[in-house]
Amino acid sequence: MRQSRFRIGMLMALVLALGSGAARADDLSVVTTIKPIHSIAAAVLAGVAEPKLLIDGAASPHTFSLKPSDAKTLAAARVVFRVSDGLEPFMIKVMRSLPKSVQVVTLEKAPGLTLYPMRTGGTFEADDHGHGKGGKHKHDHAHDDEKNATDGHLFLDPANARLIATYMADVLGKAHPAGADRFKANADAFGREMGALLTELEAKTKPLAGRPFIVFHDAYQYFERRFGLEAAGSVTVSPDVAPSARRLSALRRKIGELKAVCVFSEPQFEPRLVVTITEKTDARRGVLDPLGVSIPAGPSHYTTLLRSLAADLEACLKG
Ligand SMILES: [Zn+2]
Repeated sequence: MRQSRFRIGMLMALVLALGSGAARADDLSVVTTIKPIHSIAAAVLAGVAEPKLLIDGAASPHTFSLKPSDAKTLAAARVVFRVSDGLEPFMIKVMRSLPKSVQVVTLEKAPGLTLYPMRTGGTFEADDHGHGKGGKHKHDHAHDDEKNATDGHLFLDPANARLIATYMADVLGKAHPAGADRFKANADAFGREMGALLTELEAKTKPLAGRPFIVFHDAYQYFERRFGLEAAGSVTVSPDVAPSARRLSALRRKIGELKAVCVFSEPQFEPRLVVTITEKTDARRGVLDPLGVSIPAGPSHYTTLLRSLAADLEACLKG
């Protein structure tokens, strides 16, 4: 009797040892769309697997289109994390053609997220998702739905990032039960990091409240609201098409009317274009990078991205 209990104990220890060994899974292929989401997934998967990043470089998720190699990467995945129809429209069609073995997870559905509708009224120009390029026909059709659509830049709030990590751990734990405990522990650690980041950035952004600014791409609603900042408006400017003379004077008038301290472009804009738009106005020029294009991918990308957004806002808005 005692001996058999001993044997069961040995057997359990063996099973546990095997189980923890199996937690390292090279077959758990996880693909993410944008870099900040890749970073959160990398933090959750740490020690078990490394996620793949689909949209690298300065490509916008709004206008991204798949190369054949991207389609292959997606088809071979076990789990794909994307944000929403609105943020990565290219995924809508792709999802229909993926094999059943691929689980596409829409992070917008993560429980508890703070979500806002897209800002289209008043001084905010609708982000046409195409940034002025192509797809006009499609755009006209989608317009009515988009009016009340959720703003997909929901990842730029550390409180949402924490909930996304929890949701990812839950999904990945079901897809790969041997790693479930590790995913949960990783998500918990990421959540604590987000708590500290919130406190740090609240202190840093507090002096910037009430200083109006304009953005070229309305991507920052979640960041602004979390930290008590408010963009005065957005102007939709295509990164590679110079606005007409008429459009240019309208843009300058708007910058003046809104008394913008700063006008923020993004890395893919020609500096000359930004100078043209802001000249003859009192606004300073700044650059914000909502995807962290120049920040190395990996588990710490997300924290670095949010810190640099706060630093870039501060550098232009302060004083
Ligand atoms: Zn956008």
